[in-house]
Amino acid sequence: LTKIADANAILEEIASSTPSHAVVVGAGLIGIETAEALQARGLQVSVVEALDRVLPALLDSEMASHVEQELVEKGIDLRLGQRIVSLEGDSSGHVRKAVTEKSKLKADLVVLALGARPNVELARQAGLEIGPTGGISVNEYMQTSDPDIYAGGDCVENMHRVSGARVLAPMGSTANKHGRIIGTNVTGGADTFPGVLGTTIVKVFDLNVSRVGLCECDPLATNYELVTALAPGFDHASYYPGAQMITVKLLADRKTRKVLGAQAVGRGEVAKRIDVLVALMSMGGTVDDLANLDLAYSPPYNGAMDVLHNAANVIRNKLSGLAKGISPAEVNEWIRAGEDFVLLDVRSSPEWEDAHIEASQCRLLPLNRLREEVQTLPRHTEIVTMCRTSIRAYQAQRILEGAGFTNVCFLDGSIIAWPYAISCRTS
Ligand SMILES: Cc1cc2nc3c(=O)[nH]c(=O)nc-3n(C[C@H](O)[C@H](O)[C@H](O)COP(=O)(O)OP(=O)(O)OC[C@H]3O[C@@H](n4cnc5c(N)ncnc54)[C@H](O)[C@@H]3O)c2cc1C
Repeated sequence: LTKIADANAILEEIASSTPSHAVVVGAGLIGIETAEALQARGLQVSVVEALDRVLPALLDSEMASHVEQELVEKGIDLRLGQRIVSLEGDSSGHVRKAVTEKSKLKADLVVLALGARPNVELARQAGLEIGPTGGISVNEYMQTSDPDIYAGGDCVENMHRVSGARVLAPMGSTANKHGRIIGTNVTGGADTFPGVLGTTIVKVFDLNVSRVGLCECDPLATNYELVTALAPGFDHASYYPGAQMITVKLLADRKTRKVLGAQAVGRGEVAKRIDVLVALMSMGGTVDDLANLDLAYSPPYNGAMDVLHNAANVIRNKLSGLAKGISPAEVNEWIRAGEDFVLLDVRSSPEWEDAHIEASQCRLLPLNRLREEVQTLPRHTEIVTMCRTSIRAYQAQRILEGAGFTNVCFLDGSIIAWPYAISCRTS
């Protein structure tokens, strides 16, 4: 599925053979977009992905799980952690089943969305240098190893502006910039391409999903001492109609304090946040720069403090040793392993009744009662505080430390960013 003709061929197939079940193989950008489009045409859609999460090249698992929930809620049959091993057809040559390692799925139509590979055949035949990523090697002027031959678009390697590594960036946004630079340079100019940040955005049903720079799961991230924040918040003032939640995961380097990357997921406006970060990261900005960016504020457009400000301040507080966060994955593991710790929910009782994490370690003690009831908490057991978005949880961590507790941290992102099961009033 790389050309309009390919999309038209799928539409023609739907019109002529009226399939009822489609299987999309691969839960990357194109697989997910295709699944939504096929469902909109009335098909029941399964998505099969070999890895354990959707959008694996884009998101860390706790962010991907929000997308997975959205897909399942919208009726997509999601099969993670299984590969397609064969397709079975009928006597007329039509596909009827897609067989995975774990299941047999009804399939009248199968779309393989297994990633993009640069088409470098012509360059190879011309004897041009192909880089280790499989893309054509070019310098900052977009010249190949033969300086009279320029190359751009999906077929070339790019420099990653955070890591300095050579990467493939098969995006229309990148290809267009390459084209302009090549046009300038072949007509006597000397324009240069500074590289990419891997900026990506996709709509998944009602969710907006975006990423810039490095993810925690990126192998290149191991070159840094990562500090992360999971910051949920409204996309504009919560009291102004239409406010929607988004969650930002921000990554920074402990040594340089530079922002290394971010992911944003939610029903609210995420593109603005990612684009602000693109600008900041292109200038080598730090979390300190981000925390005080003079972003536009009026209730229809934002809160007085943007989610990005909050995320930057969480990281600054972590860097200074004030805030001690723990990831949802780690807390979930402790719950599953039956570890001896207290998951202290400091929200109000009505909030708890609406939704809470179901675990024997979980205990409700609203923040406004914490000081007076602090003696009811165990002194020598690890306490993980949590709330709705982490702000009260952080306050609780500080109150407990002030009361002499030494083993306290807060759940990063708290219940809004919690990617695992919760008990809801409606469930
Ligand atoms: C389904 C889909 C959705 C996408 N959505 C987005 C998006 O939302 N945002 C985004 O930024 N990017 C998106 N992309 C990626 C974007 O389309 C590509 O990055 C962009 O088209 C790359 O431009 P290009 O000129 O390098 O290659 P192409 O657009 O592929 O054009 C290359 C052309 O060269 C022709 N060609 C190849 N070999 C030869 C030859 N030997 N001689 C002559 N012609 C040749 C090909 O037939 C083709 O027409 C999407 C891609 C797909 C497939």
